Amino acid sequence: MKSRQTNAGLKTLSLFCVLCASVLNGFAVDREAFSITNYDLNVQIEPEQHRLGVRGKITLRNDSATPQKIAILQVSSSLDWRSVKAGGKALQVITQPYTSDIDHTGGLSEAIVTLPQPVAPQGTVELDIAYEGVILLDATRLTRIGTPEEAATSTDWDQIAPNFTAVRGAGYVAWYPIATEVANLSEGNSLFEVLGRWKTREAGSKMHLKFMPTSEDPSLPQILFNGVSCSGPAADESTGASRLGPADCLYQTLRQDVPTFVIADYQVLERPAIEVRYLRGHDVAATNFADAAEKIAPFITEWFGTPREKAQTADLLDPHAAPFESGALLLTPLANDDPKLAGLAAAHQLTHASFLSFRPWIEEGLAHFAQALYLEHEKGRAAALDYMGLHRFALSQVDAQTTAPRSEDEVNRSLVNTTSEDLYRSKAMCVWWMLRDMVGEAALKKALAAYRPEQDNEPSYMPHLIAAQTQRDLGWFFDDWVYRDRGLPDFKVESAFSRKTTADSFMVTITLDNLGTAGAEVPVIVRFAGGEVMRRLDVRAKNKAVTRVEVSGAPQEIVVNDGSVPESNMANNTFKIELAEK
Ligand SMILES: [Zn+2]
Repeated sequence: MKSRQTNAGLKTLSLFCVLCASVLNGFAVDREAFSITNYDLNVQIEPEQHRLGVRGKITLRNDSATPQKIAILQVSSSLDWRSVKAGGKALQVITQPYTSDIDHTGGLSEAIVTLPQPVAPQGTVELDIAYEGVILLDATRLTRIGTPEEAATSTDWDQIAPNFTAVRGAGYVAWYPIATEVANLSEGNSLFEVLGRWKTREAGSKMHLKFMPTSEDPSLPQILFNGVSCSGPAADESTGASRLGPADCLYQTLRQDVPTFVIADYQVLERPAIEVRYLRGHDVAATNFADAAEKIAPFITEWFGTPREKAQTADLLDPHAAPFESGALLLTPLANDDPKLAGLAAAHQLTHASFLSFRPWIEEGLAHFAQALYLEHEKGRAAALDYMGLHRFALSQVDAQTTAPRSEDEVNRSLVNTTSEDLYRSKAMCVWWMLRDMVGEAALKKALAAYRPEQDNEPSYMPHLIAAQTQRDLGWFFDDWVYRDRGLPDFKVESAFSRKTTADSFMVTITLDNLGTAGAEVPVIVRFAGGEVMRRLDVRAKNKAVTRVEVSGAPQEIVVNDGSVPESNMANNTFKIELAEK
């Protein structure tokens, strides 16, 4: 095995490192000075030994404002550095364990590399690297903060194993080099922030992988990589799946997703809109999933455009494993055969296959919005609002922690900047839903159709596309919900007066109060003997708005907000009317 040849050299290296570890304290090391713009790696996987061996080239770019002589490279703590070279010469390297929850083991193997000469800001340096080790099921980062074993391993399910291999990248397993400051799961949003910074630095970087064969056996299972394209003697060009042969995969991290590979003995179900890979015995669930996707595909295309790539779903061995998505690839246990759940998951996944953005509030927000649209399409508006209600609950919990956002939080937690999933998934979904209600379906579809990810250079790009499709002033809305985190509105029906105008006609005068810190256009419903009518009303933050509604029966109650606007307190939204007849 080639990767073992360097062992002897590295033993000396490791020894050297132990001696030098204390020297480190003298350095002020900037772990996030460099980003890695290019990976060109040969990856050898030996499932029977749980082994991963990698050698190849990486390009580092100095993103800091000062020249850098030291570069930090990190891989999972279950992997060991074998060598780091530049221009064919071994570099001075100190390796040390580094505790961080960015890896499932709760630690990293860190290489502190002294570069041949300082790299100027924006300058690059190419390094030859080698590392190897095992990737075993390991949920240390979760169990050490008290997560029960079973829940922990169904979240951190990554491993290389003889019967099933699935390994996700940064944020799960550092199976390729990264460079990050410490992430701590017991410190609020720390992991998401560190990961968010890493992904932002890596936006646009390229990864070229060669998965090397470990056996000549043609009956070996398939390797699946979430790369845009893979090629090789036995590779299927359109899907990136390949028999375990030399597979050549090119990957560009345009999205905020992570390089992930799976090796399993999959059966394949191919349909025009989707490809489903499933494990033996899961035929029914796989067929349901493919059927659901086929059924919803025209609806998703109408909203989000023709697919840019084919959606791929792949089964996970552990029936309790938490689903994971990476762009248009969804890894989920296909043990459940509920077609409704399949439809909901497919709506999300197909949206990713159609619509590409590297901004999470657009990419993920739209995919969740598509799920609400799917439910509305299948079962009506009430079903969609119920579904969004689950997300709203998460949101009001987030909001409760920061009732009065500080000004820096307003910026950091804004949809355009946030690294919080609750915000860029749940809140963004609600924002898209509100926008659809405000500007109308046709206008929003046109704005989405005009979106080009390669032209999205400013956070205001998407808001401008939407504004261009409507006469309405949306500036205040984007300020309250997208560019800033102003928290949530809190609507209250302050008063409602009713006056009989004709024999069976009533005029109701309603005053709405928004006690919250974000404005919105909110539905107000007047229930009367024999029916109800709905009006929509702009109520800005800390403001009131008045409307008059004519109804054809004695008014009974006023309800503000049908659930389509996230709100911090919905207990004060109903007002009973005592009829004052004249
Ligand atoms: Zn998604």
